[in-house]
Amino acid sequence: MLLPKFEFHEPGSIKEALELKKKWGSTARFLAGGTDLLVHLKKKIITTDHIISLQRIESLARITAHPDFVEIGACATMAAISETPVIQAKFSALKSGVDNIGTHLIRNRATLGGNVCNASPAGDSLPALLIYKALVLLESLDGKREVPIEEFFKGPGKTDMKADEILTGFRLPNPPVHSGAHYIQLGKRKSSEINVVNVASFLEFDPKTKKIIDARIALGSVAATPIRSLKAEALLKGKIAEETSFYEAGEKARFEDCKPIDDFRGSAAYRRAMVGVLTKRTLTTAFKLAGR
Ligand SMILES: Cc1cc2nc3c(=O)[nH]c(=O)nc-3n(C[C@H](O)[C@H](O)[C@H](O)COP(=O)(O)OP(=O)(O)OC[C@H]3O[C@@H](n4cnc5c(N)ncnc54)[C@H](O)[C@@H]3O)c2cc1C
Repeated sequence: MLLPKFEFHEPGSIKEALELKKKWGSTARFLAGGTDLLVHLKKKIITTDHIISLQRIESLARITAHPDFVEIGACATMAAISETPVIQAKFSALKSGVDNIGTHLIRNRATLGGNVCNASPAGDSLPALLIYKALVLLESLDGKREVPIEEFFKGPGKTDMKADEILTGFRLPNPPVHSGAHYIQLGKRKSSEINVVNVASFLEFDPKTKKIIDARIALGSVAATPIRSLKAEALLKGKIAEETSFYEAGEKARFEDCKPIDDFRGSAAYRRAMVGVLTKRTLTTAFKLAGR
């Protein structure tokens, strides 16, 4: 399979990239790591006359720790995110998510921005971004805007990003003390496989009473977009952090919060059952990490 012909542009700034996009409109596409885009071009799922590479724009690849939050540039690779100390220390579920993407070769190229723009319901980084309440940072020639990640996904391959915008990065607030988070993905093979179900959970608890202060659960591969499991989260708040509560949350997530379909990777019934199992397991580990 050969790539079709296109003109290649390598702007050195966000402004230059946006000007090129404005000039070429819908005939142009941004390129980050290319691990989705080039596959789609080769398979003729999409066509384009102009590729605007974002790889020379250094600011897009930065990961910066601020006192209250961390900012991850859209073009930070999965490998770079995984190796960053602040991600390892404070955002372990995101680290697990990016570590599960493809192979070493893919993680050295694939970017967080590309995974989010691709908007697959099964994307490995997306549940963690949901539980950490990431803000999506967007920029156009008219200005900047921020969108909570849970409002960003509109359907498989569809997002809230406008045609004249670039995704510049993500802002993740630091998790509170006495909180923990965990991510588990289930695929048919261990790597380079689209997930059958993937779940991330976040838990904050009061160490004196053991009561759950806040809980966030995100489910992947069981709806048209990655989703929050809101009924399961509501059930947990105020309950004692223990196995029974985590099991009940898993049952709620399984029966009331997800809308899985049958496909060749797994039946809807199997996916529902696995939502229950993985929700309970991710909550149990999140609680252990919160107590450290
Ligand atoms: C062999 C293989 C295995 C894979 N395994 C996994 C896996 O296990 N889990 C998983 O989740 N994914 C997997 N993927 C999919 C892919 O690697 C990820 O979705 C990756 O994160 C995409 O990032 P990228 O930088 O390569 O995006 P690109 O291919 O460069 O771009 C993807 C799309 O996003 C747009 N885009 C990218 N960045 C921006 C930006 N900053 N602003 C605006 N638009 C932008 C592009 O125009 C394009 O439409 C795999 C892919 C391959 C080829």
